[in-house]
Amino acid sequence: MKELEERIAQQGTVKPGNVLKVDAFLNHQCDVELFDHMGAAWAEHFKGKTIDKILTIEASGIGIACVVARHFGNIPVVFAKKAQSINLDGDQYTTTVYSFTKQKEFPVIVSKRYLNEGDHVLLIDDFLANGKALKGLIELCHEAGATVEGIGIAVEKGFQGGGDQLREEGYDVDSLAIVESMDPENGTIEFRS
Ligand code: 5GP
Repeated sequence: MKELEERIAQQGTVKPGNVLKVDAFLNHQCDVELFDHMGAAWAEHFKGKTIDKILTIEASGIGIACVVARHFGNIPVVFAKKAQSINLDGDQYTTTVYSFTKQKEFPVIVSKRYLNEGDHVLLIDDFLANGKALKGLIELCHEAGATVEGIGIAVEKGFQGGGDQLREEGYDVDSLAIVESMDPENGTIEFRS
């Protein structure tokens, strides 16, 4: 998606450790109009598929997913929580995921009330790097008996391989910008064409 690539080129900064910072429009300050255009792009890509729920993971996925849901007939958005809380009553699907940015393991939790057998789920997230976060969400869907119909990602870092692995496994992964390389020395970012 040209618009997203342009925003990354203009406002993204490359940090050491293969981290791309895009908090001017995606991860801290949110550009809702851009999210809306992202929703339109995914609605076009996944058209013809039965999708009746969006599943994402806190925190940055939530805002994107809520705007995207407007393009899929206002379907419910469920976000996986990354910590146990008293609001979760224990009847839940849980797995563990290794965080690329925080460099530690954390739980990924969804209440059994909000992910059900027979759900047709679109997974949405801001970034795809090694694919650990998505694998966690996929595992929760399998546990629940829900079907993963597709995966919509804003920014995939192609050089980290998670996206291609998921495609090889047969998932329909639509990443709106795929970064093929980035250089923290001079700040250059190259996209997959
Ligand atoms: P993965 O599990 O695919 O390795 O990493 C995906 C998760 O890590 C995303 O949910 C995102 O929050 C975070 N992440 C991975 N790489 C980056 C990055 O370069 N920049 C930012 N802002 N977040 C990232």
